[in-house]
Amino acid sequence: MLEARIPSGPIEQKWDKCRYEMKLMNPANRRKHSIIVVGAGLAGAAAAATLGQQGYHVHCFSYHDTPRRAHSIAAQGGINSSKNYRNDGDSVLRLFKDTVKGGDYRAREANVYRLAEVSGNIIDQCVAQGVPFAREYGGLLDNRSFGGVQVERTFYARGQTGQQLLLGAYQALEEQIAAGTVTMHFRSELLDIVLVNGRARGIVTRDLVTGQLDSHAGDVVVLATGGYSNVFYLSTNAKASNCTAIWRAHRRGALFGNPCFTQIHPTCIPLSSDFQSKLTLMSESLRNDGRIWVPKRKGDTRGPSQIPESERDYYLENRYPSFGNLVPRDVASRNAKEVCDEGRGVGPHGQGVYLDFADAIHRLGSQTVREKYGNLFEIYERITGEDAYTVPMRIYPAPHYTMGGLWVDYHLMSTIPGLFVGGEANFSDHGANRLGASALMQGLADGYFVLPATVPDYVAANKLDPVSTSDGAFKSAKAEVKDRIDKLLAIDGKRTPDSFHKELGKIVWDDCGMARADAGLRKALARIPELRDEFWHNLRVVGTGEELNQSLEKANRISDFLELSELMCSDALQRTESCGGHFRVESQTPDGEAKRDDEHFAYTAAWEWKGAGQAHALHKEPLSFEYVPLSQRSYK
Ligand SMILES: Cc1cc2nc3c(=O)[nH]c(=O)nc-3n(C[C@H](O)[C@H](O)[C@H](O)COP(=O)(O)OP(=O)(O)OC[C@H]3O[C@@H](n4cnc5c(N)ncnc54)[C@H](O)[C@@H]3O)c2cc1C
Repeated sequence: MLEARIPSGPIEQKWDKCRYEMKLMNPANRRKHSIIVVGAGLAGAAAAATLGQQGYHVHCFSYHDTPRRAHSIAAQGGINSSKNYRNDGDSVLRLFKDTVKGGDYRAREANVYRLAEVSGNIIDQCVAQGVPFAREYGGLLDNRSFGGVQVERTFYARGQTGQQLLLGAYQALEEQIAAGTVTMHFRSELLDIVLVNGRARGIVTRDLVTGQLDSHAGDVVVLATGGYSNVFYLSTNAKASNCTAIWRAHRRGALFGNPCFTQIHPTCIPLSSDFQSKLTLMSESLRNDGRIWVPKRKGDTRGPSQIPESERDYYLENRYPSFGNLVPRDVASRNAKEVCDEGRGVGPHGQGVYLDFADAIHRLGSQTVREKYGNLFEIYERITGEDAYTVPMRIYPAPHYTMGGLWVDYHLMSTIPGLFVGGEANFSDHGANRLGASALMQGLADGYFVLPATVPDYVAANKLDPVSTSDGAFKSAKAEVKDRIDKLLAIDGKRTPDSFHKELGKIVWDDCGMARADAGLRKALARIPELRDEFWHNLRVVGTGEELNQSLEKANRISDFLELSELMCSDALQRTESCGGHFRVESQTPDGEAKRDDEHFAYTAAWEWKGAGQAHALHKEPLSFEYVPLSQRSYK
């Protein structure tokens, strides 16, 4: 069932060989084919624009009112590339190795190598589009460092890298919209995938303004619908980000890869009240100059300025002298949790550590710090009312990114023929832990370079009979969607969608968050089906299905989170090793680091939907490491 289609030959020749062997289509024939791209964030906009430019007719869908509102716009810190502009020892091989190691050896080597290989093209593409990357005084593109690496390879546009990259992709997309190759469908939410003869041939959507259900036919469907961190309720993701597109595809037969691999980001503004519904990231770039510390003494309630140097614990610098504050996210998050659990956390609830810029300001001057991080300091001040130029920031880990997603082969095709998946929505190249500034790199690699090669190959290589939305498969998929919506509206219970989401988020955070243990996972696996059952009997959705109805939108998305969360816990339970962000309490090294079990778990877990209320079936894609030999990850 799992054929990864990794090309043979040396790793540095695989992508070239694959592209050479792929079928091409004559430009005059391309316009006869239509491609559905769902998502207009970085991955989706880049793919839609590029496929449109090639001459295919692309229908691009987004539940937002413009591509510019996709969650990608929130990305702050930067995008990696192995250009080696700093001449500090970087190379394709080093970026490849750092990413495999950073992911704790749970990613597919061939994909990661390709990612490193095309990373240089991404920067060229974006510069050609006019993306205003930061430059040094002499005019060259500037670089900084992100966690888990010892070179400076991160390109950035102040703290707005995602926004500037998205504007670049958006203008490329707009060009194709104007040229007539891309048709945009705004405020249009995918609620099902349509299969004809086992192939993905269309989608069912709901117009979020009028509530109208429609179906759309095409030769290929590409999903670039982002990640599912909002399963935790509180996360750094945009409030609307959800799992519905990939989950509905999963229910139609697409295997789900590594659902329990989620990333908890170490530098977020701590939760301040129980009524909060959103967490805010403070970019990892701040760890270039900010120093992380807590008081040495438990329960020390003195303000930071009252605590002398000798009574501070710069715990990352002390424990990981080689990487210091720039250890990868999983390591930084776990250490923050540990010092807070010991009672050395700071701030009102003791759930915080300091990120202190005093040294950097002393060394560089506050103007330089302002130039590098000004907008991040401003965000922090607006939310906390504190001035981080004079008082250290307080930070705490929060759900941020999902390495899990739909399983895809080397061509980024899921187990449903004709259903491709790009960006954060696929199970991706980051293994069990994503390194900072690598998501933008992967989303744009998928969108600008990989999908525009592999999707046309699929179209050229397969005989795709014409289909129409009046065919039975389209009608029955649409009827099923309508049925589900009617069911949600008819429950007429007492609890709001948000109250279910909040309760679910707490279960997943407590038992499948930063640390996972057998007992907790079993508890969650017993509780989630009960909560799901209550949801289907006691939910209250106000309004109707024929209007703008955010209560209904949320309920629909939460119904999917209630299923996905169970799969996350099952996946975490079966993986009794620790790796990257998946920290099984039972599997630690003597000094508390994640302890892998390569003999039993060097595989990608790919789960098959077996029907509502049925246990999923587990398939395994074995992972082999020929170029980056397996070793215990160390950042000391
Ligand atoms: C606060 C923050 C900061 C970050 N900073 C960085 C950084 O500095 N560097 C880095 O590399 N990464 C960063 N990341 C991660 C990175 O931003 C994301 O992984 C990446 O932008 C995801 O892009 P995407 O195109 O896959 O998805 P998204 O940008 O989430 O786009 C999803 C698209 O799909 C559409 N969609 C979703 N579901 C449906 C549906 N059912 N029907 C129709 N349309 C749908 C949406 O409308 C949207 O257009 C950050 C993440 C966060 C949360």
